[in-house]
Amino acid sequence: MSTERPAVIRHAVMPGGITPNWTDYDGLRSRFSWGQARRELEGLPGGGLNIAWEAVERHARGVAASRIALRFLGQDSVSTLTYAELSAASNRFANVLRQLGVARGETVFLLAGRIPALYIAMLGAFKNGNVVCPLFSAFGPEPIATRMRLGDARVLVTTEPLYRRKIAQLREQLPGLRHVLLASADGQLAAAPAAIPEGTHDLDALMRNASAGFETVATTEDDLALLHFTSGTTGTPKGALHVHGAVVTHWASGKYALDLHDGDIFWCTADPGWVTGTSYGIIAPLLHGVTSIIDVAEFDVQRWYDILAQQQVSVWYTAPTAIRMMMKAGPGPARNHRYPQLRFIASVGEPLNPEAVWWGQDVFGLPVHDNWWQTETGGIMIANTPGFDIKPGSMGRPLPGIDACIVERNEAGEIRVIEQPGQQGELALRRGWPSMLRGYLHNEERYRKCFADGLYLSGDLARRDADGYYWFVGRSDDVIKSAGHLVGPFEVESALMEHPAVAEAGVIGKPDPTIGESIKAFVSLKSGVQASEALRMDLLAHARSRLGAAVAPKEIDFLPVLPRTRSGKIMRRLLKARELGLPEGDISTLEAGA
Ligand code: ATP
Ligand code: MG
Repeated sequence: MSTERPAVIRHAVMPGGITPNWTDYDGLRSRFSWGQARRELEGLPGGGLNIAWEAVERHARGVAASRIALRFLGQDSVSTLTYAELSAASNRFANVLRQLGVARGETVFLLAGRIPALYIAMLGAFKNGNVVCPLFSAFGPEPIATRMRLGDARVLVTTEPLYRRKIAQLREQLPGLRHVLLASADGQLAAAPAAIPEGTHDLDALMRNASAGFETVATTEDDLALLHFTSGTTGTPKGALHVHGAVVTHWASGKYALDLHDGDIFWCTADPGWVTGTSYGIIAPLLHGVTSIIDVAEFDVQRWYDILAQQQVSVWYTAPTAIRMMMKAGPGPARNHRYPQLRFIASVGEPLNPEAVWWGQDVFGLPVHDNWWQTETGGIMIANTPGFDIKPGSMGRPLPGIDACIVERNEAGEIRVIEQPGQQGELALRRGWPSMLRGYLHNEERYRKCFADGLYLSGDLARRDADGYYWFVGRSDDVIKSAGHLVGPFEVESALMEHPAVAEAGVIGKPDPTIGESIKAFVSLKSGVQASEALRMDLLAHARSRLGAAVAPKEIDFLPVLPRTRSGKIMRRLLKARELGLPEGDISTLEAGA
């Protein structure tokens, strides 16, 4: 059964003796201002602010020019781009856009695996003043077309195989799409020029003929830069709009939440089709002049351990779903290596069960540091960072420049801030941090509803304890009302995950005439563990002893895998719809096979 673990993990000296960038919690928070953080960046030569300038040009013109910015791990090859090379390549791409007559403010969609062209195109499009929308390349044709129509796509950068499989058939439905640029995948030319599909351009040829010099368009901090669709965990994905000014949050959170230092080898495992893969898979590490590892392959337990060791990753930013899959595989694959360079591990996207925090400690000698944010917040807001103690199960504390609070609404819809620690309510942030969303695409009303009394309302429920740590309870849509209790699924899932047989758990409420909702859990088991009636009884008993009868699930079903979004979030709404025989709703982001 589960071993009792302490409630706090004291912060420890990091391997290499590196001092964290943030060691005095209140001191830095009181000294910090966004204006001052902005002054740490360079700004465009003529004034203004542009993400690509800060991420690339600043370094390409300085001492970091020959440093490796991006290291791409292909299936059996490695390629790199230095800051100077990334500058030249993104300039070429910006010139391609200019030559095609793509105007400032128009939207450039990116649909590709994690290949160099994707990164080059994003930065080049920023330089040309375009709004970039990266899409996850595993989406099917319909979700792609819907997002491109909504986002008024003018340009699409993709690869020839993806174009043939997903776009060609829908092209007529996208009359606004003027240019399709086909990049070679993995450095291989996609097709002989003559075989390039009709109505598309060979991007490599255009790039070869374009100049490597480009003067970044004079964007300001209020100009739109990014369109990101949310994960669709709770419903139809929303298009969140972000501005160039967001780069100030990316810089500050890269420094204080991810603790990036000169010389770091950083690996963010998220795909740029999700906000994490852009804010932290591209922008933040470049801002700090470090080297990023980009794995073009999909998740594989042994490959990931190999990468951590062989690439000498020092800071690793990943997601609970990946950690749970690594836990599921058992400790064997980790033991082929040692990881002396690894000094900091962070996670985002879903609640991080305490078992997963401890897994890091057991396997790497480093706990996993959970942090919280959303597509809408554009960057990390609440975090566990290496200078402070961790309370496993907590998301940590607000970053410098971020004022968080817990609020409740009364029947008239008025907001009241709950000062009392320990009380559950909606997590809210004082508005005004630089990467706050500036709108939902074509949905002004939904956007307005996010704000009240100078606060941004996150839609997540949480508690703050007396030490200022925030604890995730659940999304307001997922919270279960059972026999007069408000039960957050996370608490129940974490208790189930303490059981040695359990790899993952998803918990829902089922309508019940007597108690409002009864709690049901879906569980997937660790490899090698067989489902059985005896195990089910054991799990029910374990949950009752950990949680008490009122909060423990009444029913447990075994599933080989839980339905997840492609960004790795358990889709409780789908578990519920399937359980109740209701329509499944928008499943455009559902992971295949789930
Ligand atoms: P949609 O808004 O379309 O339903 P989504 O909210 O899952 O999808 P994202 O913006 O990708 O889309 O995810 C943000 C959400 O993920 C948060 O609101 C929160 O519910 C969850 N989340 C992120 N980080 C954490 C964390 N550390 N702990 C708990 N939940 C987290
Ligand atoms: Mg959301």
